[in-house]
Amino acid sequence: MTEKLYYTDQYLKEFEGTVTSCEKTEDGKYHTILDRTAFFPEGGGQDADSGTLNNVEIEYVFEKGDDVCHVSSTPFEIGEKVKGIIDFKKRFLIMQKHSGEHIFCGVAHSLYGVENMGFHIGSECITVDFDKLLTPEEIKNTEEITNRIIWENREITSSFPTHEEAENIEFRSKKEITGQIRLVTIEGCDVCACCGTHVKNTGEIGSLKITSIAKKRSGTSVTMQVGEDAYKDYASKHDELARLSNMLALKPLEIADGVQRLKDEIASLKYELAKVKLEAFAEKVKELSGPLAVVFEKDLMPDEVRKMCDLLADKVTVAAVLSGSDETGYKYTLASRTMDLRQLAKDFNTALSGRGGGKPEMVQGNVSAKQNEIEDFLRSALQ
Ligand SMILES: [Zn+2]
Repeated sequence: MTEKLYYTDQYLKEFEGTVTSCEKTEDGKYHTILDRTAFFPEGGGQDADSGTLNNVEIEYVFEKGDDVCHVSSTPFEIGEKVKGIIDFKKRFLIMQKHSGEHIFCGVAHSLYGVENMGFHIGSECITVDFDKLLTPEEIKNTEEITNRIIWENREITSSFPTHEEAENIEFRSKKEITGQIRLVTIEGCDVCACCGTHVKNTGEIGSLKITSIAKKRSGTSVTMQVGEDAYKDYASKHDELARLSNMLALKPLEIADGVQRLKDEIASLKYELAKVKLEAFAEKVKELSGPLAVVFEKDLMPDEVRKMCDLLADKVTVAAVLSGSDETGYKYTLASRTMDLRQLAKDFNTALSGRGGGKPEMVQGNVSAKQNEIEDFLRSALQ
């Protein structure tokens, strides 16, 4: 059984041990077991530690029965003395995240009776799935209380009670525990069964910020940034906001209102532009008359094509308005006050690789053809 140094000192960055076994696996890697290790193996939602053994990179660490297995591309000799160095920057961030997650879940549990059904401490963020729905207000409240507990710098301790002793202790647990029980206690806040590594005092967590909330089945999935990641998230969002603030000549906290004003302005300009385009079109087609008019316009929305064609249908028997290009094809509308256009539209689509349809008096669609082919087809069809 490997002696798990990460339980006696969660801040241990370097250690010495002896290789008790080293096996080559089918994928060409080596699985090495030591008499003692400070490398935390993946488990309980927490990632494995990274680092080196005698300067050999440890690629993954996992639990194998009571032992901890170190995966590397280089073998070790049985009996070899090794010096292990943990990537403590990565480990400390995981400790900040794991302890932060415990406080948040403990507070949510005591306030709203929700259970943590699963969580993952990823390299980007932490995601926790709760069994019940939590409202945004409840989550905000939990977040505020969590941060207050962080700043109160409360003590975090761990213990290994027997199953009999554990019967008299109230604690959170995701599953029935058959093996050894380890409890992580956050002073006056939470007791939870956990195999992971934690900071000694809540103040080391710094802060915790919820970044997204989603419904998941009948529960709520919450994503959070904790510790150094919360600071980095704040810093990058601050920089982005500063960029937007310069760009829009608005104060950072007035950007949302400012963007709403811009959106309203764009909508009203679009409305004005559509009106002007329609007026210009009316001017252009005012002299037209006869059995057919085919008009090509540039860069129109389908709705504009329809409105212009409707206007043109007052002048001629069959009105056709198209927008697009020979390369990309054309959006079209055909309209008539007196003719049923449905058969014409069918033939039009068949002849010019198009699609679309509509009512007897107006049909709309797209065709993949050149301008002269479209004109030729409509002229000969209506002769
Ligand atoms: Zn835990």
